[in-house]
Formats: sequence, structure tokens, C-alpha cells
Amino acid sequence: MNHAIAKFPCQVCGMTALNEVLGFAELNRVTSDCKPFKCGGRLTVCGECAAVQKIPNDQWLREISEIYLHYNVYSQGGGEEQIVLDSVTGKPKRRSVVLASRLHETNQLPDIGWLLDVGCGNGATLRAFSDEFLTWKLYGHDLDVKPHESIRKIPRFDRYFTGNLENIDDKFHLVSMIHSLEHFQNPLSVLKILHEKVHDDGHLFVEVCNVEENPFDLLVADHLMHFSPSSLESISIQAGFAMVKLETSWIKKELSMLSNLHGNQSTPLRLDPIRTLSEIAKKVRWLRQLKDTALRASQENQNFGIFGTSIAATWVANYLGDEIKYFVDEDPSRTGRSYMGKPVLAPDNVPDSATVFIALSPKLASAIRERLSYLPLKFLQMPAL
Ligand SMILES: [Zn+2]
Repeated sequence: MNHAIAKFPCQVCGMTALNEVLGFAELNRVTSDCKPFKCGGRLTVCGECAAVQKIPNDQWLREISEIYLHYNVYSQGGGEEQIVLDSVTGKPKRRSVVLASRLHETNQLPDIGWLLDVGCGNGATLRAFSDEFLTWKLYGHDLDVKPHESIRKIPRFDRYFTGNLENIDDKFHLVSMIHSLEHFQNPLSVLKILHEKVHDDGHLFVEVCNVEENPFDLLVADHLMHFSPSSLESISIQAGFAMVKLETSWIKKELSMLSNLHGNQSTPLRLDPIRTLSEIAKKVRWLRQLKDTALRASQENQNFGIFGTSIAATWVANYLGDEIKYFVDEDPSRTGRSYMGKPVLAPDNVPDSATVFIALSPKLASAIRERLSYLPLKFLQMPAL
């Protein structure tokens, strides 16, 4: 075992049994607010519980403070949250709108209650929740000293908290963490603190990327944790929560976990650490191939674009530089703007005979390719993992 890694205990099971994923440190990274970021990350898999994680060493702590100093969420869409496909209606919607409506459908939440959204950013989740739960009072927590200006306008928004979560005196009927748990330096202790902030009959809701389905999330420099269903369930059970629901299809490639304080404690599925390490290493090799494939294709056709303006597209684009002529996006809040100094075009506006590289997981890429097959473009995608 590498000595620099050996002193860090696993964030989930606490054992000092982390194994480094070789080849990851050579890859460039990207920040969670979609900016290119230098290489040098340390990715590991726990040899005991198979949880996938970075290590919170001095370098990582320096990097995250650098990243949060200039953080700018959803800048590609002028602050608008990412659009996802609602798996129930099949319609494109903002992520938090989908989650609020799925949460409502569980019938687990009372008609009147208090929500605390930890990592509330510019208020996308609070806004969606305010529209869906018409009699709830809303509270937010984040790192900034003052709340984002758009939060104060949200109906029934009551109070913004910052600083140590322990200092929040109230208890809430729902505490939500939408893409925020993976950022914390010590996720287990955060969940233990939040356990104290949940009302006796309240719930915790956590949304994170699913490492089993999204290889690009590994590249996000400020994500310490890369949860699987198993590691997310394990860590929340250790914090004292009981599982109500753990969904993998509410949003594609993401985990949606609703838990409470008094349900039956389940036993999470145990993953084989050796097999997990080899699967993560395979994902890292696939990422390397992906950027090599994109680089070759961009040199073969000068009329070259990248599909998407999120994590994956940003990461590939950083390797390609001026070989890219434009980005292609279907989200109207993103088209017509410029991104990384290149125009963002709607699919219908891409010049004929262009090569468009779809930097997405093969399943999603195939769906997009099929939907846009009427266009006179050459779509490129990666083979299955
Ligand atoms: Zn572990």
C-alpha cells in the first residue's frame, strides 16, 4: 500500500484499507461548477467495504478552497439548473423539479413541514420544493456568508444558515442534500450531525451521482466521495438513519435516497472490493480512451463540435482546445451563449457534415444519436464500458 494513502481511513467503514486507482492521477480533472482543473487527483477504493473515494489530504483541501473561492453554479445556463429527463412523464425538466415531484409521490412527507436544504446554492431545490409543497417553510444552508440573492424571493423561504451545521438549533421534517454530501470532508460526521437536526418523524433525502453508472463523476476534483448504492446505504446506516427508499431511476445515473430515524435497519449489499477496484480502473482507462478518440476525430475533421456543456464535455474540451469549433446543446437556457470561448449551438443550427462527439455514457449517447439521426451530421460516441 502507498504510504501517502495508508494514513487515511475509509470515509464509510473507517478501516485504513484504501487502494489507489492507478492512472487516475495523470488525468486532467474538472470542478463541480464545470471548469477545467489540473491533473493530480488521488482516487482510491476501500479494500474492506469497496467504497470509492478521494483522500482529504492537504493537496485536496487546498484545491477545494481554491475551487469554492470562485464557485459559480450552472454558469452555462445563466444560473438555471441542469435539465434531466423525467422518467415518469418522459419530458425534460429541471433536476430539482423532478425530485420534488418524486418525493411528493412517496406520500412519506407531511402536508405542513420545515425543509432544510444543505448546500442550497442559488436555491434551485428550495424553489422547486416551494412550488411542489405549498405549505412548507423553507430553510437553506451553504458556505457563502450571505444567501444567493435569488433565494430571498422564493415563497415561504424563512432563513439562511451558514457556518457549522452543529450550530443550527432547529429540527426539520426534511433535510435534503442535493449533490452536496459528496463534497464534505467528513461525510459520516456530517450525516451524524444532520441526524440531530431531523424531527423525530422526519426524513433525510440525499441525491448523489451513482459511481456504478457515471464514470465522469470520478473526474470532479471537489467530490471526495463517489457513492454506489451500497456505500451510500452503509454510510447513512452508520449515521443512525434507516432506509425508506433508495432509487436508481428517479434521475438517470444518480442515486436518490430517502431515509428516516425509526425504520427497519437493512443490511446493505456487500460489494467485492477487488472486483470494484478493477471496475473503477476500467472506467479510468475508458476515460483516457475517450479523450484520445475525441482528439483524433477533431484532427480529422476541422468542422468538429462537442455535444453537451456539462462535466464530461468540459473535461474533453479542455484536452482539445481550439480543435473544437462549437458546443451543441438541447437545453434552450444554454444555446445562443458562448462556453469556454466557443458558441453553443442548438442541434438544428450545427453546420452540415460536422462531426459531433457525444461525450456521454454509451447508453445516453445512443439515445441522443437516435433522436437527432435526421440531421446531416456525423455523430461519434464511445463503445460500451
Ligand atoms: Zn471502507
